[in-house]
Amino acid sequence: MANEQFFIVGTGFFGAVMAERITSQLGASVTIFEKRPHFGGNSYSYLDRDTGIECHKYGSHIFHTSIPKVWKYINQFTDFTSYRHHVLTKHAGQVFAMPINLFTINQLYQKNFTPSEAQEFLAAEIARDKLSAPKNLEEKAISLIGRPLYEAFIKNYTKKQWGCDPKELPAEIITRLPVRTSYNTNYFADTWQGVPKDGYFALFQKLLDNPKITIKYNCTYESVKNELPKSAKIIYTGMPDALFDYKFGPLNWRSLKFEWETLDMQDYQGTASMNYADLDVAYTRIHEFKHYNPERLAAFNCPKTIICREYPETYQLGTEPYYPINNEENNKLYSLYAEEAQKDPRLILGGRLGQYKYFDMDKTINNALETFDKMLKNNL
Ligand code: UDP
Repeated sequence: MANEQFFIVGTGFFGAVMAERITSQLGASVTIFEKRPHFGGNSYSYLDRDTGIECHKYGSHIFHTSIPKVWKYINQFTDFTSYRHHVLTKHAGQVFAMPINLFTINQLYQKNFTPSEAQEFLAAEIARDKLSAPKNLEEKAISLIGRPLYEAFIKNYTKKQWGCDPKELPAEIITRLPVRTSYNTNYFADTWQGVPKDGYFALFQKLLDNPKITIKYNCTYESVKNELPKSAKIIYTGMPDALFDYKFGPLNWRSLKFEWETLDMQDYQGTASMNYADLDVAYTRIHEFKHYNPERLAAFNCPKTIICREYPETYQLGTEPYYPINNEENNKLYSLYAEEAQKDPRLILGGRLGQYKYFDMDKTINNALETFDKMLKNNL
C-alpha cells in the first residue's frame, strides 16, 4: 500500500488524522489540498501578536470526549489544560447558568428548590404540554424542561442560531445539552476535556509533521481534480453537493459571521462564552478568548482583551458552511450524494461537511480512525 497515491481534501481533523495514519502506519505519501491559507479547518487557532492571546478563528473550540481510543490517540500529539467549559446566558437583562441546572431553574422561578423538589416541579411543568412522542426540537425541549425554561433559554437562541422555527428542526440538536437538577454547571458531560496546552495550531502542526505529507494551500479540489491520476485514492472532507456539481440539488447549511474587537480592558465579560438568549441582539454569543487560557498569566493579565461576536447567517454560495441542517429533506438529499460517492471505490467522504453530520471534534477523529482501520481491512 506504500505505493498507493493518496490525496486528501481539507486539513481539518478528519483530513489531518487520515494523513497522519496513512503516512505513519502505511509509509505512503499524501498530498493534501487546502483551500485556506492555513491548516486545521474550523478548529484552527493562532496567537494574537499584540496581546499573546490565543484566538479560535472560527469560534470557541473546547476538546471534550468520552471515547478512550480518541483520548489516547490525540494525547500523542498534545497535552491538554485543565480548562472546564462553563457557559453563561443573558436573558431579560439577567445572567443565568447554562446548560439548564439548579441555578438556572431556581433563578428563573425565584425558588430555592432542592434537586428532588426541582425534579417534581419540572415533571409537573412538562406534563402541562402533554407531549407523548416529541417530533421536533421544540417538542423535545419542552418534554425535557417544560415550556417556561424552553421559552426563556432555548426558543429564541435556536431561532437565531438556525434561522427557522425550532419546530422545523430535528429533536437531536437539543439533546447535545445536558439538563441537570444539581448545581453542576459543566457544559459538557464528557469524561475528558480541556484545550490543547500549546494551542490547536501546535496540535495540527504535530499531526501533520511528516516529510511524506505535502500540503498545498490556497488550493481547491476543483482546480486540481482533473490532473489527479485515475487510480488515486481521494479522501474528501468538503461539501458533498459541491463535489458532485450539485447534481441532486444544493444541501442546506448554516453559516456564521464573526465580528472581532480588541478592547482596552483586562476583562470584558468575566467568562469565555456568554450566550444571548433573546432576540434583541442579533448575535448568539460573545467569545472572550483569554478565558480559555487562564494559566498563561502574561496574556491573561494584560490590559487588553479580544472578543468576538458570533452572528448566524444564511448560507449562500461563497460563504462558509459551518453546520449541516439535518432535517428529513436534507438527510435524504445527502444520502443521494453518499450513494453516488459509494459508486466510486477510490472515494471516501469524511468530517462534518463530508458526512453532513453535526460532529464534534472527537467524533470526527473517531470516524477518521475507524475509516482508516476499515481501509486497512478492505485493503483499499
Ligand atoms: N442552545 C440553546 N440555547 C443556548 C445554547 C444552545 O437553545 O444557550 C441550543 C441551540 O439550538 C443550539 C443547540 O442547543 O444549536 C446546541 O448547542 P451547542 O452549544 O452544542 O452548539 P455549538 O457550540 O455546536 O454551536
